[in-house]
Amino acid sequence: MMDAGRHPNIELLTYSEVEEVSGYIGKFQVKVRKKARHVNAELCTECGLCQEKCPQKTIPSEFDQGMGKRSAIYVPFPQAIPRVPVIDTERCTYFLTQKCRVCEKLCPAGAIDFEQEDETLELEVGAVIVATGFAQFRAEELPQYNRSLSPDIIDGLQFERLSSTTGPTEGEILTSEGVPPKRVAIIHCVGARDEHSNVYCSRVCCMYALKHAHLVRDKTDAEVYEFYMDIRASGKGYEEFYTRVQEEDVYFVRGRAAEVTVLEDGQLMVLAEDTILGKPVSAKVDMVVLGSAMVPQGDSGQVASTFGIGRSEDGFFLEAHPKLRPVETNTDGVFLAGACQSPRDVPDTVAHADAAAGRCLSLLSRGEVTISPTVAVVDERLCSACRVCIDLCPYTAISFISQDGSGTARINEALCKGCGTCVAACPAAAIKARHFTDGQIYAEIVGLLHGSEHEVAEVTG
Ligand SMILES: Cc1cc2nc3c(=O)[nH]c(=O)nc-3n(C[C@H](O)[C@H](O)[C@H](O)COP(=O)(O)OP(=O)(O)OC[C@H]3O[C@@H](n4cnc5c(N)ncnc54)[C@H](O)[C@@H]3O)c2cc1C
Repeated sequence: MMDAGRHPNIELLTYSEVEEVSGYIGKFQVKVRKKARHVNAELCTECGLCQEKCPQKTIPSEFDQGMGKRSAIYVPFPQAIPRVPVIDTERCTYFLTQKCRVCEKLCPAGAIDFEQEDETLELEVGAVIVATGFAQFRAEELPQYNRSLSPDIIDGLQFERLSSTTGPTEGEILTSEGVPPKRVAIIHCVGARDEHSNVYCSRVCCMYALKHAHLVRDKTDAEVYEFYMDIRASGKGYEEFYTRVQEEDVYFVRGRAAEVTVLEDGQLMVLAEDTILGKPVSAKVDMVVLGSAMVPQGDSGQVASTFGIGRSEDGFFLEAHPKLRPVETNTDGVFLAGACQSPRDVPDTVAHADAAAGRCLSLLSRGEVTISPTVAVVDERLCSACRVCIDLCPYTAISFISQDGSGTARINEALCKGCGTCVAACPAAAIKARHFTDGQIYAEIVGLLHGSEHEVAEVTG
């Protein structure tokens, strides 16, 4: 990230959102909303004094998954580039009551700007890479884990923060009472491989759950119980890591944990069936870590429609072909990188992102694109200007051109995929699929049946 921030050919637009995309491969127009930070990034020296002196310091930190606190003016996460803070206008005392302005008074660079407003930028780009990542499955959706009943039933990302030296406990693994746990249960496949949530395997959780077991063993004296269905350790060196964790005296219980209950003394009880022993088992523990699945971002439907890309059944963005075109989408010039396409770990994300960057580079360095000849064309003399085709086109390839009081549909050949939807729907039969006309299809059928026109007429009735 630091390299990207410093690179002369990269302009980072942080705290910004793409609102609209139009155009086509080689010539996309992108509207970006650069949100107001209320801190002038040009003046800010990133000294951190504003955060230190902000009187409002009890806001649950999103980055620390609610386990740590942040101020109303804050840097969203420690490695942010740039480290320019943002004012949370929904929590800042000044924005709520028109009183305070402590940060403004104390900022030595005069960088605080309460009047700053969102900016809209219009960019023209040749290609787009969508890399919006994943969200974590909300374990609250599975009532058997009683997540909301105890602060010691945590999820994978919370454990990541708890064990990180930049986290709320500076890397010490502690229960909500501030003491090291004596027994920890780690539950695999929460929200994955389960018909009540997601049927797919989230691929990453087995390995991160093993990493969590290793960290607990490394940093505390706690016993660790891993409840798993089977371990999927398919990356390079992963099976070896699994063996290593087994040798660290972690107890592996083969069977999906059925329930987590909170006992009267606040301890937690995990109930499961050990499918190797063939009998029910239970473990009384101080902390439960739910190995929650990776799921699509909450706004992935919106992002998909902004960029004109599809989604697969699981909700992740759809690639053009699962084996041959895994970083391309069905919209030429729009590529995918990372976990927005499917759950994947960091090495796979880096490889996927490299492939997307490579595709972009080869596209841009060619300077021209080859488009398929099998596209639809409108016979403008026949078009009745009803616009039915415009709404139906899944590739937003048809626009309406006004002409002397009337108008006609027109197809952008760079966007058209020749799917034929408009051809079939046009009530005036004004649209033809080039190289795919009725006559040509008819001739193909004749060829396929090796028969005469007369025989085909009989077959088709
Ligand atoms: C608990 C847990 C532990 C893990 N541990 C490991 C591990 O030890 N090793 C490993 O290899 N992998 C691990 N992973 C997997 C790893 O997190 C992913 O492989 C990696 O984060 C995927 O990277 P990404 O860039 O595709 O997505 P993300 O890391 O999700 O990044 C996406 C980015 O896009 C931003 N974004 C989202 N929507 C928008 C938008 N509309 N506009 C602008 N920006 C947007 C997000 O804010 C985010 O910064 C773990 C995952 C979990 C859940």
